[in-house]
Amino acid sequence: MAKVEEKGIQTKKAEDMSKWYEEVCLKSEIVEFSTVKGCMVIRPRGYSIWEKIKEHFELTINKPLGVKNAYFPLFIPESFFHKETEHAEGFSPEVAWIDKELTGDGERLAIRPTSETIMYDSYSRWIRSYRDLPLKINQWCNVVRWETKATRLFLRSREFLWQEGHNVYETPEECETETIDIIKRYAALCENLLAMPVLVGKKSEKEKFAGAVHTYTIEGFMPDGKALQSGTSHNLGDGFGKAFGISFLGKDEKKHTPFQNSWGLSTRLIGGLVMTHSDDKGLVLPPMVAENKLVIIPLIFKKDKEAVLEKAKELTDDLKAFNPILDDSEEYSPGYKYAEYELQGIPLRIELGPRDLENNQVMIKTRIGEEKIAVPFSELEKRIPEILEEMQNELLRKAKERMDSQKMSVSSTEGFEKAIEKSKLIRMNWCGEPPCELDIKEKTGATTRCTLLEEEKAEGECPFCNKEAKEVMYFSRSY
Ligand SMILES: [Zn+2]
Repeated sequence: MAKVEEKGIQTKKAEDMSKWYEEVCLKSEIVEFSTVKGCMVIRPRGYSIWEKIKEHFELTINKPLGVKNAYFPLFIPESFFHKETEHAEGFSPEVAWIDKELTGDGERLAIRPTSETIMYDSYSRWIRSYRDLPLKINQWCNVVRWETKATRLFLRSREFLWQEGHNVYETPEECETETIDIIKRYAALCENLLAMPVLVGKKSEKEKFAGAVHTYTIEGFMPDGKALQSGTSHNLGDGFGKAFGISFLGKDEKKHTPFQNSWGLSTRLIGGLVMTHSDDKGLVLPPMVAENKLVIIPLIFKKDKEAVLEKAKELTDDLKAFNPILDDSEEYSPGYKYAEYELQGIPLRIELGPRDLENNQVMIKTRIGEEKIAVPFSELEKRIPEILEEMQNELLRKAKERMDSQKMSVSSTEGFEKAIEKSKLIRMNWCGEPPCELDIKEKTGATTRCTLLEEEKAEGECPFCNKEAKEVMYFSRSY
């Protein structure tokens, strides 16, 4: 039996966030390193978080927008890749290939880094007339991007899980409206489900998706001062349509090329969730993504042992809507159990001892609260949802407060450099020019994150190149 001290988190979040993050991920048993380099094993406790994200996604995005799920092959013929030049160039450094000696098809096959090309090959057969539009398809799948940088659990791995939506519309207006609507729905998912605030905005020319007209993004901001790009929605215009020969006969009886978007979010969100809320005791899960909302721990003494155990079982049954864990094992002390379930991030702990039994109550403690509160048996079913909701709201409130405290407006290059040293999320009037963006990155290590969707009016000049400021851009270091 491992000692509590050894099982618990050894690194402080405030001291070494990177090491702390890895420890929380591994010791809470949501994920482990695979023997396969650069890959991870998502364990049941981590996969259940992904399932909650999927459920919420289906309910708040696919269903209201009328998006249907489908599945396309993992392998993409090289010739498909090269149909859209910018797209091929953008992805070529990180594509894993299967040699043509092996495929026997006379051409190499890519392992999908994203599925635009293979899906649009099908779309070119499926779309004939305006009656086939809009076409809205989503795929839940894995993708492979052959990272050469150091990989990090959930944040950067060679293979990860995601969803990719690919819609086709008659008009550019419909396409743009829904591309924006989707990024807003992504932001709502982050806030409402994961209690994770994000900036919602548009990427710079340099940072947009390969082959897109423009890219919208949601950017989380982590306590260590690094942004986490958490989801993107790309307006692809009619470029892919032309490259893949997708066309439709309009109401005017003429042939037209349709307009498209693609949009995705991935298991990277789980990394953002861990960094945003967890603490020195381990994982903290917003109640809405927790598979088990509570753990029931009977306090076993000689006195009234049988009665306490019996009541604990009865409560487990009564509260099954919250998928409770009952830990009535006798080989571990209550203190040991408390630490274990705090490490796992179970939102609520219910303690029941002989004295509680006499008083017809339990003691409840939330994963983030300081105090235990007494709740009568008769009020449990009413109080638990309220306590969980309060905890969910409190996590979002705290995360917003922290993120706001890290925002800083700067108007000079010195101010910019100081802000980066202090791990800030920088707001700056900026020229918008790609060479200036490169210059800032080289000098400071910071990259553009986005301009906000709710447009902010630019003023004055760009501190780095003294040209007229065209937009208000957010900058920071990033994952
Ligand atoms: Zn500039």
